[in-house]
This record gives sequence, C-alpha cells and structure tokens, in this order.
Amino acid sequence: MSVKKSWRAVIGWPLIVCASALLFTGCSQPESDAEVITVYTARNEQLIKPLFDRFQAETGIEIRYITDNAGPLLARLKAEGKNTPADLFLTVDAGFLWQASEEGVLAPLDSPILKANIPASLRSSKDDWFGLSLRARTIIYATDRVQPGELSTYEALAEPEWNGRICLRTAKKVYNQSLVATMIKSLGEPETERIVGGWVKNLATPPYSNDIQSMEAVAAGQCDVTIVNTYYFGRLQKDNPDINLAVFWPNQSDRGVHINVSGAGLTKYAKNPAAARQLLEWLSEPEAQYLFAEANEEYPVNPAVEPSAEVKAWGDFKADNINVEAAGRLQAEAIKLMDRVGYQ
Ligand code: FE
Repeated sequence: MSVKKSWRAVIGWPLIVCASALLFTGCSQPESDAEVITVYTARNEQLIKPLFDRFQAETGIEIRYITDNAGPLLARLKAEGKNTPADLFLTVDAGFLWQASEEGVLAPLDSPILKANIPASLRSSKDDWFGLSLRARTIIYATDRVQPGELSTYEALAEPEWNGRICLRTAKKVYNQSLVATMIKSLGEPETERIVGGWVKNLATPPYSNDIQSMEAVAAGQCDVTIVNTYYFGRLQKDNPDINLAVFWPNQSDRGVHINVSGAGLTKYAKNPAAARQLLEWLSEPEAQYLFAEANEEYPVNPAVEPSAEVKAWGDFKADNINVEAAGRLQAEAIKLMDRVGYQ
C-alpha cells in the first residue's frame, strides 16, 4: 500500500485524532513512512500522549493514534486486514492482548531488549505482545469496620462470615473475567465455581458497573470489602486522602495477588515495523516505564524500576506469577462459570 493511500485511509476515519487537529503534531502529509507510526490505543489520551510526545522529541518519529475501547479497535484491525495503517495495538488487560494474538492481528517480535526488560509472565509466550504496566486486582476494606487480620485470601471472601458484606464490580468487565480465569488455572474449575458462588451469596448490593462505585459503597458503609484494581484506589485516595479505605494484599502465603497488565503488540501488517519496535522497546526502558506507570498509578513491568511514592506507600506484595496469558485462554470458561453462579 502506498503512503498516500495509507494516509488517505487514516484521515477518513471518524475517530481519528486528526479530527481535532491540535492533538496531532499537525495533520500534514508525512514526508516518508519511516517517520510516522500509527497506534491503535485503548489507553486514553491523557495517559499516553505525554509519553508519545517525549518519544517523538527524542527520536523524531511521529506517532499518530486512535483511541477507542479495545473491542472496537480489535474489530477494526481485523476488518482492515492488510490495509490497516496501525503499526501497534496498545490496550489494557492480558485478556484483550491474548485475543488479539489469537485472532492473528499481531506479529511476533524477537527483541532482546523487550525480553530483558519484561518478565516472561507479563508477555506473550509467542512474543507477539508485551506487558508495559502492571496493576494488581486486590482487596480494599473499610478501615473502620474491618481489621486486616480478618482478611486472608480471595477464597476466604466466600465464607459465611462475609455474608452481606461484599461489593463487587460487574462480571461483564474483563477485569473480573481475568481474575476468575486465573483462579480457574490455579484452583481448578469446581473450586473456583464454589468460591465465586460464595462471593455472589455474600454480596451486599448488586454488582457495580465500575471499581470506583464499588469502593464508594464500601466507604459509605453499604458493604465492608471489595475487589478492585489498585490504580482506581489511587485515584480515590488522591481526591480524598483521609478516605476510610485501605489496601489488603491477599494470598500472600500461597499464589499471591492477581495482577494484570496493559501492553502492546506489533500489528501483523505494520507499515513501519522498525519504528514501531523502537517505540515498544523505548516504552520498556526505565525512564518511560516510570512515567507510563506513574501516569495511572500503576506498577512498572520492568523490575529495575520502582513505582511512584504514592503506589509504594501501599506496601510490597507477592504477585501471582502465573503467566497473564491464562486470563485470555480461560476467559470463556470464566464467563460461563460466573454466569452459572448468578454473578451478573
Ligand atoms: Fe481500568
């Protein structure tokens, strides 16, 4: 495909950032393919733009991007096939990354830099996607009603003592599907079904549509505990430093806390794979890792990089080192299991 055609395809899209020209570094025609890469990103603009700007300033490579939810972006990548202008697919949750890999829209990258910077459990075993930031899906409890000593594991929240004390986010969101999928991998399906069924029995309220609402219900006394991604707690804490909520790290004497990633992969039909690879590798290096994680109160995937002070203040924890791919591979089983136990 010619440069010209690719560029025409780009400006034809309704969601293209060029529609609001200020967000681009200009909408003029690129001088050559070598200087431009296109990213389809499910991460929102305020998180990625500062990084992209920095990369551009350091390398001279211009980054164009389209932001949307992972599902529509993936559908678009598939529909466009060879004609896609996308060089990189960037999204949250290993479930989506695994799906992109399964659907054949990603290309493997044999990169010693990515392999050195990113632990094997946080990237594809086929080398076609790489985790770039890490989030823990952990227990948040009401500090005025729960003693941390009452808490232990995700599984224990299924016990009768938590009856009417739990709030959860909806089962429709990929985050809980990934959590349940990794539980199936670690505990087996019958045991996971018993546990998730126990959670549902213990619910104080119907599931919430997002993690923030679920934590606000805990803070307001509607329930005593919930399970959320750490960065949402970070957001709530930032707005309300004295909030009556705290982080608990479950399963510290066995498999560890459920973690997931945001990450990216080179697309199969990338027009500028060399520059896209350069961006991906750059994102895995310490400086970008800190900024990428810090922007959303996440953890860097690169073990050489410390998280921000706010994130560090939640304390160290042992993470489940199961390969996050399991979240994708067992997602369909997880959805069926959640449905069987009436988790909506
Ligand atoms: Fe999120």
